[in-house]
Amino acid sequence: MTFLPFTRPSIDEETIAAVGDVLRSGWITSGPKVKEFEAALSDYCGGRPVRAFSSGTATMQVALTLAGIGPGDEVITAPLTWVASASVVLAAGARPVFVDIDPVTRNIDLERIEAAVTARTRAIIPVDLAGLPVARDRLYAIAGDHKLRVIEDAAQAFGAQWRGRRIGATGDFVSFSFHANKNITTGEGGALVLPQDVDAGLCERLRLQGVTRFADGSMDADVLGGKFNLTDIAATIGLGQLKRLAAFTQRRRELAHRYFEHFDELAIAGLELPLRDFDNSNWHMYQVLLPSGSRRGQVIAAMKEHGIGIGVHYPALHLFSLYRQQGYRAGDFPQAERVGGQTITLPLFPAMQDSDVDRVCTALAAILKPSA
Ligand SMILES: *Cc1c(COP(=O)(O)O)cnc(C)c1O
Repeated sequence: MTFLPFTRPSIDEETIAAVGDVLRSGWITSGPKVKEFEAALSDYCGGRPVRAFSSGTATMQVALTLAGIGPGDEVITAPLTWVASASVVLAAGARPVFVDIDPVTRNIDLERIEAAVTARTRAIIPVDLAGLPVARDRLYAIAGDHKLRVIEDAAQAFGAQWRGRRIGATGDFVSFSFHANKNITTGEGGALVLPQDVDAGLCERLRLQGVTRFADGSMDADVLGGKFNLTDIAATIGLGQLKRLAAFTQRRRELAHRYFEHFDELAIAGLELPLRDFDNSNWHMYQVLLPSGSRRGQVIAAMKEHGIGIGVHYPALHLFSLYRQQGYRAGDFPQAERVGGQTITLPLFPAMQDSDVDRVCTALAAILKPSA
């Protein structure tokens, strides 16, 4: 029995060969392939300016700087997310303000945002968990009413849409990640879609040491920049992945659909399925909530015995030590705590076979319904 991980990237031979060409070319850091990747991403995002980065975390850090967010400012985000969504706010010297999730979408509860807005609130970082987009119309209506910037943490939402429009093609700042587990990957990497009013040159300087080089060989550094550039090696992987995005997303939808079919039939008492969204979501993950009272650690160990890898995305962030130090406590966000405590991520990636889904469902049913 081969082990089934919860995710695995699909890199084709053509891409591997193209990476070989880059390695042989003598130019392996940021160069023509990064430019080509940025142009392809911009094309995908309806012509909006896009800059490539070394990670999704770096894109958000730079977006916060471009939005002028710093000490004394508050930024609203969800507690059910990867640590990066809030750590970039701390890194900017600002305060992350969590707003509980909606248990149906498992994304930030838009109806609770306004109660968290203060005179110091400057921005919202919505997170499209599992690739299910936060409702963009309502989100931007709230942001507009309160004059807040939006930095979309769309790390998991590449390939997703909102009401027929691609995530990335509209909005304020949009941040993507191309980490190995994301729907398309560059190994590590990210991209930032810029709003029209932002200086793309400043974005580039913040990405790489604040430096501008002049034709005569002289240079200047006018801002404090990071070391956040993507390599041509990584960009070449990204170009190969981008060509397959539509097929990847289609296959993910088929596999998610198959999970629903099985779970409807199995009717495991107390198991909570994700929202059935086949219009907007890119099905970055298929996550179920275990029946209350089941021990997640035991379920994960038992699935491993069956040769199946399970992920946990994510325990509620405000209960991590770093955020307890900020004053957050158990009970602050009951929905995020409940979902974060019971969620498991089942295997879902484009190279999976239908029979893999069947195997996962059979194993989970055997573990959760031992008498059946
Ligand atoms: C992956 C991810 C990030 C960070 O992306 P990196 O490329 O790993 O820096 C941020 N937010 C969310 C929700 C993510 O899933």
